[in-house]
Amino acid sequence: MTQLDPKAGLGTIAIHGGQVPDPTTGAVMTPIYQTSTYAQEALGKNKGYEYARTHNATRAALERNLAALEGAKHGLSYSSGLAATNTLMQTLSAGDHVVCGQNTYGGTYRLFDKVWRRHGLEFTFVDAASVESIAAAFTPATRMVFVETPTNPLMQLTDIAAVVAVARPRGIKVVVDNTFMTPYFQRPLALGADASFHSVTKYLNGHSDMVGGALLVNDDGLHEQLRFLQNASGAVPGPMDCFLALRGTKTLAVRMERHDRNARELAAVLAKHPKAGKVFYPGLSDHPQHELAKRQASGFGGMISFVPGDGSLEAGRIVFDRFRLFTRAESLGGVESLVCHPASMTHASVPRERRLAMGFADGLLRLSVGIEDVADLRDDLEQALGAV
Ligand SMILES: *Cc1c(COP(=O)(O)O)cnc(C)c1O
Repeated sequence: MTQLDPKAGLGTIAIHGGQVPDPTTGAVMTPIYQTSTYAQEALGKNKGYEYARTHNATRAALERNLAALEGAKHGLSYSSGLAATNTLMQTLSAGDHVVCGQNTYGGTYRLFDKVWRRHGLEFTFVDAASVESIAAAFTPATRMVFVETPTNPLMQLTDIAAVVAVARPRGIKVVVDNTFMTPYFQRPLALGADASFHSVTKYLNGHSDMVGGALLVNDDGLHEQLRFLQNASGAVPGPMDCFLALRGTKTLAVRMERHDRNARELAAVLAKHPKAGKVFYPGLSDHPQHELAKRQASGFGGMISFVPGDGSLEAGRIVFDRFRLFTRAESLGGVESLVCHPASMTHASVPRERRLAMGFADGLLRLSVGIEDVADLRDDLEQALGAV
């Protein structure tokens, strides 16, 4: 393993963390170990690899790299973000209770509500911007708090350290979906969380060309349990996808700096624009949790939501259809800028009354600000808004 100085910065860790030249050839980049099985030298004698559901060197290189980035002792990577969440839920047993943010990623909500509830887990969905609401939902059966910060698309934050302070004394594990911030800006384990979760599909890979997930943990027992469950239930990523993710993480530092810089500028444009209503971005000083954002993370990220015109579906449609450089698509976190209409795309399953009650207008649009030249992004945003 490259011996990294304990004070090495994240830009260095992103490139070198957990990486070794390939032991057979010295290849500087970990090869794609595209194999399902490994030869035994003799009965019971192998090189530590038996079957690729259990062990794959490309996957292991990615897991070491992600663990180094999060400052975690252990990393596990999965075939998708939801495969990681699903495996995490397998650590619980029927009758156990989970407290989850109500504004969580739609697929997470669906997995909990439509799959795990049927298997006897119980969930309470609360306003996770309020630590009091989280604590008030605890029951003697509560085993886990699952929060996403910031949330999608309303960019609400949860105070991670404050949640840990109420959960830990009761032996309740705290899991943070860190997809939007990435370890470059926010490190939940350092704030006391038990696990940091990622949809690797998004910023960690950063190039919109694979789907993957990860869990980063410090506790040896939890790690062992997750490893067992991953092997037992099979939610493993392929080596090609691990290679792509590992290629992506090498540029995490430069990408996140640029996503953040571009988004700050576009958020400022939107905040002053006569044709934009409410703007949701933790970097704006009028964001209700701006101080928490500054304290808990070292950047604000590349995600912005805003309400075009009067907030009607028609205003949203006119602006959405007018974008030229921003691509109309779901997902986020790639080098290219995307625009999404959550009410008809990512959040179509959320009832309209519930959306409106959360302050989520019919026409609300979400931007995943990419790393293009910001002047071009600004021009596109302004011409699109001009249509309303
Ligand atoms: C995409 C996403 C997920 C789910 O991850 P997949 O890789 O799509 O399975 C979970 N949480 C957040 C915040 C996401 O954006």
